[in-house]
Amino acid sequence: MTIGIPKEVKNNENRVGMTPAGVFELTKHGHIVYVQSNAGEGSGFFDSDYKKAGGLILDTIGQVYGISEMIVKVKEPMPEEYGLVQPDQIIFTYFHFASSEPLTKAMIESKATCIAYETVEDDDGTLPLLTPMSEVAGRMAIQQGAKYLEKPAKGRGVLLGGVPGVAPGKVLILGAGVVGVQAAKMAAGLGAQVTILDINMKRLRYINDVMPPHVITEFSNEFNIRKYIQNHDLIIGGVLLKGAKAPNLITRDMLKEMRPGTVIVDVAVDQGGCVETTRPTTHEDPIYIIDDVVHYSVANMPGAVPYTSTVALTNVTLPYVLKLANLGWANATDKDPALKKGLNIINGEIVYDGIIEAFQDSV
Ligand code: NAD
Repeated sequence: MTIGIPKEVKNNENRVGMTPAGVFELTKHGHIVYVQSNAGEGSGFFDSDYKKAGGLILDTIGQVYGISEMIVKVKEPMPEEYGLVQPDQIIFTYFHFASSEPLTKAMIESKATCIAYETVEDDDGTLPLLTPMSEVAGRMAIQQGAKYLEKPAKGRGVLLGGVPGVAPGKVLILGAGVVGVQAAKMAAGLGAQVTILDINMKRLRYINDVMPPHVITEFSNEFNIRKYIQNHDLIIGGVLLKGAKAPNLITRDMLKEMRPGTVIVDVAVDQGGCVETTRPTTHEDPIYIIDDVVHYSVANMPGAVPYTSTVALTNVTLPYVLKLANLGWANATDKDPALKKGLNIINGEIVYDGIIEAFQDSV
């Protein structure tokens, strides 16, 4: 199969759909991989690396879309790419169709087959192509939180690890899923005292088993949240209700109960956030302050570490890309039920229930 890796066109998106290692694996299996010139530069991969791996470099995005049977990328096609998508072409990327009617209409009109990373689902309900980005964001949350706790960055002026003779900082984590566990691991590694809350006892038991004793678990309810926000320095929001807006576990009135300079990193911002005062921010302007509480709520945290994120993404997408390239989408999705759940649009026709429901009257 011919596979194309275009350069991402979304503003400030430095990730790329495939690493040179992925290109090497595909060419080893007899496939032809076209890479747009400079596609990997933002992630630290250069044209020479792709060439060495067996890729063929093309100058323009139009050439890549024009010649490839399958396009592998990171973000959904942008309006300037809509016209480049070919009938019968496979597009394998994050789409998030339900949040964009223009994108959905454009892909229907293109008659392409769209397989969405975010809906590939294992039989235990986990989302293998979303997990690595939650891992990145969970780990980054502590790094960012530690930075904004510094006084010049408007925080309380607390060093998370403390020093001999001074107690360590306290980190409160809401949600013990992928983001929560990774954040807890990083915070514990720095020596902070960590409290993690969830409503899922299985997750709390797991954390209790695997984490060191300075990570404590508690059941998530309003009473406990109100108690802990008063004396914790850094609060991480990592709650997810599948397919729904995140619940507002911290309401506006609660900010007054926190100490000035407390930092909230609401990773769940992409689902509306689990703090009432959360609104999306960007890497250029990541924080704002309400009632002396620092809010960090960047909606695409992994974008700040494109090298790590690109490698982590290719690690999990490559086995599916190989299956699609070796077998074609119809056979590959027949054989792999997880990949089948990724099918959102087939040759211009919506096949995914969530998207049909979202646009039943309009597309
Ligand atoms: P997950 O499903 O692994 O974990 C969510 C956890 O929240 C679950 O353990 C669940 O039991 C728990 N939960 C549900 N209701 C709760 C409540 N009332 N109190 C406490 N816990 C509760 O999800 P995840 O992969 O960890 O993702 C968490 C959020 O982070 C998602 O919204 C995801 O989209 C987001 N995310 C954001 C970025 C970013 O760049 N901002 C990157 C990756 C993921």
